[in-house]
Amino acid sequence: MNPIAKSLRVVQDRLRRVLEQTARAPGSVRLLAVSKTFDAETVHEAWLAGQREFGENYIQEGVDKIVRLRVLEPNGGLVWHCVGPVQSNKTRLVAEHFDWVHTVDRLKIAQRLNEQRPAHLPPLNVCLQVNIDGGDTKSGVAPSEALGLAQAVRELPRLRLRGLMTIPDPVDDMLAVHTRARVLFENLQRALALPDFDTLSMGMSGDMDAAVQAGSTMVRVGSAIFGTRPPKTA
Ligand SMILES: *Cc1c(COP(=O)(O)O)cnc(C)c1O
Repeated sequence: MNPIAKSLRVVQDRLRRVLEQTARAPGSVRLLAVSKTFDAETVHEAWLAGQREFGENYIQEGVDKIVRLRVLEPNGGLVWHCVGPVQSNKTRLVAEHFDWVHTVDRLKIAQRLNEQRPAHLPPLNVCLQVNIDGGDTKSGVAPSEALGLAQAVRELPRLRLRGLMTIPDPVDDMLAVHTRARVLFENLQRALALPDFDTLSMGMSGDMDAAVQAGSTMVRVGSAIFGTRPPKTA
């Protein structure tokens, strides 16, 4: 078994165990492999091990891998998630190449993605990034403004509003922080009554257990699958 297949197995087992311990349905959390800084061949190894959903932070780097993997596995069933910050000048690349974007926190970015999503592609899946802990990242809409942004984004026909995403700073009690996000997510589910609003993207290598305990439906795992990231050069 290649090393990536092995660590994928470990992460999947960890996920299964937490779901079992918290009496959540098996398979109720999707595993996103965050492949930022790793090359296309490494992504391909994960694909060979059965992984289908991948997250990228750096948009051009992600697009290069998307294009490469399309050559390697034309019918590979890969699903690409943009989990990094999106500036206005990068919205077109995201709209044209990715299946999901997790980091929408301003209406202007959503509007550009909506205008630039090509007609031959299905609507772009969108999660709103929420600054759940008021942490240093500074990205993300304030929790109190999330509903307003969601109500505006749901009107954009080329986007499909899927849920919320968080990246809280590490603290001792991650369960408490993640639970705040879960409560906000459920409040929005009730207020919006959108059947597609089904995704709470939270939890990374270090905090995925707490995130799943708190109700995450999608974990974004990088280093636990691919190993320590090489320093970024681009
Ligand atoms: C890098 C990154 C991850 C994965 O982080 P790990 O700690 O390596 O699992 C998840 N989400 C986002 C937004 C990231 O930037």
